[in-house]
Amino acid sequence: MSVFKPVACDCPACGSAIRIDACDSVNGVRRPDLRRDILEDRFQRTRCSACRSEFRIDPAFTYLDVERGQWMLVRPAGDLPQWQRFEAQARAIHAEAFGADADAAARAIGARLTVRVTFGWPALREKLLCAAHGIDDVVLELLKLALLRQLGDLPLSDTVELRLVDAGAQLLRLAWLQAADGARVEQLEVPREMLAGLADEGADWQALRAELAAAPYVDWQRFVVEPA
Ligand SMILES: [Zn+2]
Repeated sequence: MSVFKPVACDCPACGSAIRIDACDSVNGVRRPDLRRDILEDRFQRTRCSACRSEFRIDPAFTYLDVERGQWMLVRPAGDLPQWQRFEAQARAIHAEAFGADADAAARAIGARLTVRVTFGWPALREKLLCAAHGIDDVVLELLKLALLRQLGDLPLSDTVELRLVDAGAQLLRLAWLQAADGARVEQLEVPREMLAGLADEGADWQALRAELAAAPYVDWQRFVVEPA
């Protein structure tokens, strides 16, 4: 099921009171249209009825895709400093729905799902791209760490982050994005074979890989964002 509930908010442009159907949960298999909207950066965009300006509400929902083995707690970009708290929440919600106390059918589904927590629209879209293109999201984060070590002058800041934005057979396109709205600052292309190389790297990379894979917040920023 995918669930929406009416929410009151103020238009960021003119301040008019608006009611929006905010998403509470998305089932990417039963609602492929919603999954496509996320991939096309359209989901939860709306237009103010008073001033006609367009805006997008922050994501705050759970995402389930049984076919692709994905379960995610999706949070607004602004919640990132509380990533430890939301990791715990993701584990708790997932355990309640698919864990030891759930029925046998739910437990069987749960065993096939990865548990993730993401912050902001670009991070969610990135996880969908990984699943769509057969990319291990843990290895993708290793790739970002490798790029960060190689590249000199980086446009990183508290609000700019590095995300996968497109994947082909040969090349991956990554971009520096504003975490909140996905506006692109700069982009780069890297050969996809770098992923395979990193998967076979030495002991220090394997330690990083194990740490990334051990918890729901599979994102290199967990190593640099001090938990609030
Ligand atoms: Zn308005």
